[in-house]
Amino acid sequence: MTSTQAPATPERKFERSLLEAILEASPDGIFVVDDQGIILCHNQRLLEVFGIAPGAIAGGEDGDLAGLDDQNLLTQVLPLIHEPEPFLQRVMMLYADPLLEDHCELECRDGRTLERHSRALWGEDQCYVGRVWFFRDITARKRVEHALEQLAQHDPLTGAANRRHFFERAAEELARARRHGDALSLVMLDLDHFKRINDHWGHAAGDRVLQAFAAGVRSLLRREDLFGRIGGEEFVVLLPATGLEGALPLAERLRRQTEGLDLEENGERVSVTTSAGVATLGAGDASTDALLQRADEALYAAKRAGRNRSFCQA
Ligand code: GH3
Ligand code: MG
Ligand code: MG
Repeated sequence: MTSTQAPATPERKFERSLLEAILEASPDGIFVVDDQGIILCHNQRLLEVFGIAPGAIAGGEDGDLAGLDDQNLLTQVLPLIHEPEPFLQRVMMLYADPLLEDHCELECRDGRTLERHSRALWGEDQCYVGRVWFFRDITARKRVEHALEQLAQHDPLTGAANRRHFFERAAEELARARRHGDALSLVMLDLDHFKRINDHWGHAAGDRVLQAFAAGVRSLLRREDLFGRIGGEEFVVLLPATGLEGALPLAERLRRQTEGLDLEENGERVSVTTSAGVATLGAGDASTDALLQRADEALYAAKRAGRNRSFCQA
């Protein structure tokens, strides 16, 4: 620990020793400022969290920032933060209002996530004497959370959104489309005679076909489009801000892309096709189900008309 000197009474010695232990054992980067924003003490971890080399801050040559204005630290830290402006505003707000407590996550430019806590320090007479700041690197935890979320929301075979996640996201997109008066379309895809592929080449080969199909679909979609697997060989694509004039040509591209997949099993070409049903949001559609039902009807019509085609329902 580095800190300004305090009188060495027995009580002070104990407090100092306790504070040292807390600071040095903490996984958080910690620093304390007085009511003027002067750094009173900090731990070594703080320098590690922000990658501050000893001597990087003028006046703190040996890595001891005690006695320096907090501005020196801020100047060093701001370039590391992904969105420095809101970060700075929040810091100013916290200094301006001692009653505020803080708990937030910060994205760093190097891909790390930091968690920040802060609270004011009060003297015996309830007057503001400073603030303590904690910064914790939570990157590993965030990565695990993200991986778990991906697992819970996506189909492991194809990477498409699973049924539950698709319907949750679709409901949000529908609400958004309604709010902004935007178009919204849906393409439903069902592989043709897929059972025959399984029967002829086996289930594992069928799985590889599903993966190739899904990769092909994804390659034609925009970032904002939502691709989901809602059944064994049934998929859906939700197209925000897209009317029939955009959705139907896309369905055709998806159909042609599937037809053109270059797949082989045991030296034989595996030919696969898909039928597609397209529907667009109507004024009377209360939920995604209505849209889905019309797309399903169009798909059924495409199947009846001979498969490997895309139909639409206005
Ligand atoms: P249609 O053109 O009328 O859609 O015919 P189809 O054979 O595709 O339709 P059907 O519903 O009769 O069969 C779908 C098949 O998809 C049956 C099922 O075993 C297979 N299937 C479902 N999920 C999977 C999967 O995850 N992997 C594999 N390999 N096959 C699957
Ligand atoms: Mg099928
Ligand atoms: Mg089916």
